[in-house]
Amino acid sequence: MMNLSQLANDVGEVGAVCVRGGGTRWDVGGAAGDVQVVMAPTGIDSFDPAEMTVVVGAGTTLSELADALAARGQEVALDGPPGATIGGALMVGRSPLRRGRLGEVADVLLQADCVGADGQVFVAGGPTVKNVSGYDLCRLLVGSLGTLAVVGRVILRTRPMPEDSAWMSGEVPLKVVLQSVYRPATVLWDGRQTTVRVEGHGADVNNEVDLLGGLGLERVDQPVLPRERDRWSGFLPSGGVLEVGAGVVHQLERPSPPAVAAGVRVLGDRMREAFDPRRRFNPGRDPHRVAA
Ligand SMILES: Cc1cc2nc3c(=O)[nH]c(=O)nc-3n(C[C@H](O)[C@H](O)[C@H](O)COP(=O)(O)OP(=O)(O)OC[C@H]3O[C@@H](n4cnc5c(N)ncnc54)[C@H](O)[C@@H]3O)c2cc1C
Repeated sequence: MMNLSQLANDVGEVGAVCVRGGGTRWDVGGAAGDVQVVMAPTGIDSFDPAEMTVVVGAGTTLSELADALAARGQEVALDGPPGATIGGALMVGRSPLRRGRLGEVADVLLQADCVGADGQVFVAGGPTVKNVSGYDLCRLLVGSLGTLAVVGRVILRTRPMPEDSAWMSGEVPLKVVLQSVYRPATVLWDGRQTTVRVEGHGADVNNEVDLLGGLGLERVDQPVLPRERDRWSGFLPSGGVLEVGAGVVHQLERPSPPAVAAGVRVLGDRMREAFDPRRRFNPGRDPHRVAA
């Protein structure tokens, strides 16, 4: 069993601290400033394919976890570039492109063993899907950019990998595709081209591919999307791609920070105050500045 006493020791009781994962989103939500950098533990503690849960250090890379799970035909709803860690992906909180099948990032985290701003270890959530009462602290942690706690060890919900999959694309109206396809993993639209990923049992995928082929879509490789993201406002910028059903636009330009309602900001500030009254964690970062 992974011990968090070293991490608690590193965090200590005083001074500004931030956790670094792979550093792939190090500038998201503002620079961390000149603070002590700590790292979360790495490695897979245990994986129970029958229970569909994995216990893992938050500093483990997504690729290491993906390889271990894939060997038993499972995966988690986390995604990111090479080098990205589990803790970073959870704290940035972006749902995977295949969210239509794989689910949302907020549903992945069952339990988080953390170090709080007082340097003490605390546990949020629980090891199984429905055994926690009271406030759902795990959901609060997802997307918090490490401003509430240092996440050391997590229990994640896993999913079975699909037997087969296909990306299909064509200049076919979005509405026509949506009316024809059953529970797609992803639907993308660039204003002209509709691209869809279907996945599931082999025979079902073959049927969907035939059906979509009949509409004029063809098999393609997984599309490479522009790096920046913004909330869908009903307007598709040039070069932008809408992730249909997610309310997210993938685009070339860096978006402006979203407008946050005053009441939401007050509640957010109060929450940060309660977790970290001395603003020790990631002092320069503001989760409200992240667009989508
Ligand atoms: C489909 C998809 C595609 C993506 N593609 C890209 C891409 O192409 N490029 C890209 O840059 N990102 C991409 N992302 C976002 C991706 O999730 C994050 O970039 C990445 O996972 C962050 O991980 P990291 O280890 O590099 O975090 P870091 O950049 O190291 O840290 C990010 C934030 O999380 C905090 N943090 C990290 N670990 C912990 C911890 N253990 N406890 C508390 N706080 C912590 C840090 O303090 C920081 O605030 C994508 C996401 C999805 C879903």
